[in-house]
Amino acid sequence: FSIDPPVNEPVLEYRPGSDERARIQDELQRLRNTPLEIPLIIGGRPVKTGNLGRCVVPHDHGHQLAVFHQAGEKEVAMAIEAAASAAGKWAAMDWGDRLAIFNRAADLIAGPRRMTLAAATMLGQGKNVYQAEIDAACEIVDFLRFNAFYATEIYRQQPRSGPAEWNHLEYRPLEGFVFAVSPFNFTAIGGNLPSAPAMLGNTVLWKPASSAVFSAWMLMEIFMEAGLPPGVINFIPGPGAQVGHPVLASPQLAGIHFTGSTTVFQNMWKTVAENLGRYRTYPRIVGETGGKDFIFVHPSAETEAVVTALIRGAFEYQGQKCSAASRAYLPESLWPQIREKLTAAMGTIKVGPPENFENFVNAVIDRAAFDTISGYIDHARQHEAAEIIAGGGCDRSSGYFIEPTVILTTDPRFKTMEEEIFGPVLTLYVYADDAFEETLDLCDRTSPYALTGAIFARDRAAVGTARRRLVNAAGNFYINDKPTGAVVGRQPFGGARASGTNDKAGSILNLYRWVSPRTIKENF
Ligand code: GLU
Repeated sequence: FSIDPPVNEPVLEYRPGSDERARIQDELQRLRNTPLEIPLIIGGRPVKTGNLGRCVVPHDHGHQLAVFHQAGEKEVAMAIEAAASAAGKWAAMDWGDRLAIFNRAADLIAGPRRMTLAAATMLGQGKNVYQAEIDAACEIVDFLRFNAFYATEIYRQQPRSGPAEWNHLEYRPLEGFVFAVSPFNFTAIGGNLPSAPAMLGNTVLWKPASSAVFSAWMLMEIFMEAGLPPGVINFIPGPGAQVGHPVLASPQLAGIHFTGSTTVFQNMWKTVAENLGRYRTYPRIVGETGGKDFIFVHPSAETEAVVTALIRGAFEYQGQKCSAASRAYLPESLWPQIREKLTAAMGTIKVGPPENFENFVNAVIDRAAFDTISGYIDHARQHEAAEIIAGGGCDRSSGYFIEPTVILTTDPRFKTMEEEIFGPVLTLYVYADDAFEETLDLCDRTSPYALTGAIFARDRAAVGTARRRLVNAAGNFYINDKPTGAVVGRQPFGGARASGTNDKAGSILNLYRWVSPRTIKENF
């Protein structure tokens, strides 16, 4: 049995007057006007706890889309139990049948559920239609189809057998459940974190970010509609500490599949270390956290391309991507040209709700994000080493809006050059042309992260120098392109250092983490 490598799901453009534009507008209306009550799903059954959280619209925070029931210790115990009782049958299922469920889910998302998932992502997470399409339609479909394909590749990989012996690798799932903890910023990551381990026969407890429960719930419904057996993925939203602690203390914890903040990830490692004696097996810990991603410009770069990358890399989805460009190093000789083009382009960016398809930048996710990001902007405003050269405005009266902001600094170690902001704030540092190599080293040392980065240069030798000197500075390194927008099957995604375990989402490398192979030798 084998399947052909899939092709990436084509991106719909939602042009004015197009059929898809009319359809998604209807769907936005419908979701806005249909309040939901979202239960937990444990062992395939809805569970209500009465401890309610709220899903609100970030660009219209007075509007509530849904309430959701939150898990506590009791529901965690139920979910662990449900996962354990589903495990045997799920692992024993023919893997072709197992993978077919996820391919069916991909077909549902690519087809009949596409508008619902994209509209839920626009309303619940504040994405414009294009950002929602590449995430909640294309990327999730790609994750599901490519991972199913990679799983078949893993199962087919077998050792040699000899004339009098037969050798076999049995790709068992991990012994216990996997805890999937997903972030708010990508619906696709929400879908990938529980489904990747499940494809390899694992059972899962899935805690989506509280600020993205709306789209996560739609995904959970799609998995069930596709035929996922009860107990394979258990949906348990709730406050991090309340859900996380009992899950991590369970002897049956066998893996963690995480995307989110560095602090939370590090705390999970510590909790795992404290509980090490309790587990039956060493939990596989796979995590992707933050970034302080750079664009580095060489004097030979093409400035038009640089400006496009700065704007798209820093401000698409309000900079709320781990991969977002948030610091840039520009050569003195190109700075006047770049400054002129950049400020002109910044003047054309429209900020507002995503229901108006002309708005490029929408609201940030919630009040806490708004406060953190505006705090960084205030910090820059108060410091002599920094100047705000575009944007800087913040308004939370009806939605959490922050203007795309560009800070120019004379201090390459200025706070906003070093710390992850996770918002639409880009800091620029201008270096002397003859200090190219030293500035590369400075870029490498400036942040503890190593997720993404880009070099812009027409000079091949300069590209080579940057590649070498920044060898450990980014897990995804882009040459003459923005550092965001990795595509499944094309740019495996992930970084090392403080950015995570670099287990490359969207590639076979990630899936290897979810099997515990048994070698079998038989003599004839
Ligand atoms: N994979 C996304 C990209 O390449 C970023 C994912 C994230 O923010 O975690 O832009």
